[in-house]
Amino acid sequence: MSTVITSDYISKAVDQVKKIKPDYRLMLDLYERIFIAQENSRKTIRMQEYTISDEVLSVKLKEKFPLVEVSEFIIDIESAGELFSAICEILLTAEGDMSESVKKIIDAVDNGTLATENLIPAFLREDEAFFNSIEKDHNIDRRVLGFVIFSCMKPSLAMFSEMMEKYLDKDNEWDKGYCPVCGSMPELSIFEDNGKRSLLCGFCGHQWPSKRVYCSFCENTDHETLRYFEIDNEEEYRVDVCEKCKRYIKTVDKKKTSRTMYLPLESIATPYIDLKFKEMGYIPGNIPVDQ
Ligand SMILES: [Zn+2]
Ligand SMILES: [Zn+2]
Repeated sequence: MSTVITSDYISKAVDQVKKIKPDYRLMLDLYERIFIAQENSRKTIRMQEYTISDEVLSVKLKEKFPLVEVSEFIIDIESAGELFSAICEILLTAEGDMSESVKKIIDAVDNGTLATENLIPAFLREDEAFFNSIEKDHNIDRRVLGFVIFSCMKPSLAMFSEMMEKYLDKDNEWDKGYCPVCGSMPELSIFEDNGKRSLLCGFCGHQWPSKRVYCSFCENTDHETLRYFEIDNEEEYRVDVCEKCKRYIKTVDKKKTSRTMYLPLESIATPYIDLKFKEMGYIPGNIPVDQ
């Protein structure tokens, strides 16, 4: 059920992108090591059983509600804790403010101020007050801390999500503006080799089949207000925008590239696209509107 991707596969995918985008080499180096640590960490995860009763399931499927709430995800805290430390070590080698911020996080963990068994549940229940106080009392950059926490949870999130897939009706396209497993927004749109479209969840990594012409956030299907932009000199990318909700999503077209594809890499390898579309007044899909 769970697919383990080898470190060679990730390195190959990252190397190919590094060749095209040498300016991002340092950032890509860090991500390569994080992706490999995440994939390796899957082998250490013990997933607990989680079942959805027939009664609840029939309501969820009928109403097209997500199968589980984000706060219901089960994380292997021990494995995530080890990955947390590994990711901190990787980020220590980064340039600039990043390594300073990570140093403070490592110190706080070492002296017992921060512990993954508290950080992870707080993250899942989106406890703003908890993270505000960490930032205020310990002068820790919450964006960096949030990145490390989310990154160390990712393997458990993905494995839990894979466990939930058996409950989904996979024969039909999902036409809602959120992930059928966890209700989060998609972070990437993909055209498969057969031309079919799928979307990748920004939270649990679930990939689901979707309609080709529709806004994956507000569910708009009016082609007058849906359009896409091509990206100069990079024909495998396009950006789909919705004029109704002003959101955009990056799309990668597998038919138009022979690169080795690792989807988490595709989401982060084009920060200039995000900059450009934010400048144009569009909102990245995976960010809540009130931020
Ligand atoms: Zn999801
Ligand atoms: Zn929309």
